[in-house]
Formats: sequence, C-alpha cells, structure tokens
Amino acid sequence: MLITSTHNDVTLFKMGRSLGPVVPYWVHAFLVDDLLIDTGTIAARREFMDAQRDRTVRTIVNTHHHEDHAGNNAALAAGRNPAILAHERAIPWIADPGRMPLRPYQLVVWRRHDGSTAKPIGTTVETDNHSFDVLFTPGHSFDHICLYEPEKKWLFTGDTYCGRKIKYFRRDEDYALLLETLSHLAELEVETIFCSLLGVVRDGTKALRDKVAFMTRLRDDVLDLRASGFSPRAIARKLLGREGPMFYITGGHYAKANAVQSILSGGPMDAWPV
Ligand SMILES: [Zn+2]
Repeated sequence: MLITSTHNDVTLFKMGRSLGPVVPYWVHAFLVDDLLIDTGTIAARREFMDAQRDRTVRTIVNTHHHEDHAGNNAALAAGRNPAILAHERAIPWIADPGRMPLRPYQLVVWRRHDGSTAKPIGTTVETDNHSFDVLFTPGHSFDHICLYEPEKKWLFTGDTYCGRKIKYFRRDEDYALLLETLSHLAELEVETIFCSLLGVVRDGTKALRDKVAFMTRLRDDVLDLRASGFSPRAIARKLLGREGPMFYITGGHYAKANAVQSILSGGPMDAWPV
C-alpha cells in the first residue's frame, strides 16, 4: 500500500506491505525537489515506482542501510541512474543486502531488496531550492545519518526519532549512543521532523527534547533498580510493562527488555560490524 501526500515543499510516500486489511508496519520516503530521502520497501515497489513515474529523482540519500530504507534503490537506478549517497559504513551493506541476516518477520513485512551502488555522502547535499547539512547520527544503526535544512528548520531523522517514548528496542540498537545522538539533535532549531515511521512531527525541537528527557529518566531508573538488585527482566516489566505482540511477532528482535539490556551493558545486544 502507498499513500502520497505533501507538506510544504516535501512529498511524502507512506508505504508498507498489506497483509489482508492490515499494514503491520509503515515506512516513509520523502522527495524534495529532485532529492529522494530513502526509497522505502521492496514490498511496495510497484505502487512506489508508479508514483515516481512523472517525477524527477537525480539524487537518492539513504539514511541507513536497513531493508525498508534502501528497498527501491535498484529499481530507481535502473531507469534513471541517480546518484545514490549514504554514510561510507552503509555502502557495503547497500551493495550486498545478503550480508544482513533477515529474520522471518523481516522477510514477511519488508522482503530482501536488491543491491545497489552508493557513494560516500559529503557534508552537505544541495538541491535547486534547499541545502541540507549531513549529520552522522549513530544509535539506531552504525551507519545512520540525518539531513538538516536550517532555513526551513526541517530535520529528516530516518529511524532516529520514532516517537517521544521508547516502547520496544531493537537488539542491534545502542541506547547510550542513541541518547547522545538525540541530545545533539535536540540542540538544533527544528520546526518539522520528517520521521521514517511517523511522517510529519511538528514542534520538532520540543519532540526531541521530550525524547531525551524520557530516555534519560528511563536510563536512571534502570540503573537505580539494578543497584537495588532487580533482574533485567523484572526492571523491564516494572518500567515498560510486559512484552506485547511486537516481541512475539519479531521473535524478540524488538523487545522492551532489549532497552534495559543495552542500558546495562553499555552497547547493543547484537554487536555492530567493525
Ligand atoms: Zn532502521
């Protein structure tokens, strides 16, 4: 399924795989002038490519290598030969998605995409009407970047924001690094966040500060309870509640306990590639 909308000069493509009447997980791609920020999931390829038919895409930026952000790179590259730009650490993973073991739920919801050739992104990206600062924002993944448009006060956050609170945490997310990244982003003047999960989020600086406050409080509460002798599982249940459907559907790839474990260990549960 694909839903197209606009916000100011930005075209939003909200997409996901339909399983009967349900789309279990949405992701957004964004077009500004001839710059496409992420290319969504191969599971919505036909509709997404139909929506691009009368549009010009000269540059693609992938915020990170995940399969729901680089899913249609290859299809767009085939007909138009755009420049595909990403953080240098993302490039081997975008070229060879087979390096990334996908779990059963990922194969159902997103599917594995084709490899494509990306080049290292510089410090800025220019379009006819906008200039974007490229910010290295690790935490959700090792290769994550955000784009900031200071005149419009837009921030394209990929999977770095995703809501004021944390419910579920991926096994390969790094809590401390994500909090540090969000603390830096919260110092920017941001009117609008363009979030890969949520789409448009207004009052962006406040939203980022709210998330930093939530994550700081959660970290401190986790450490206090651990010092009092609670187990990680008991801490997760006490502070975040019982695991829900997301835990069972993803086989624990997304879990409340993952956040607690990452706080206690100081890193991601699944180590990042070196
Ligand atoms: Zn991601």
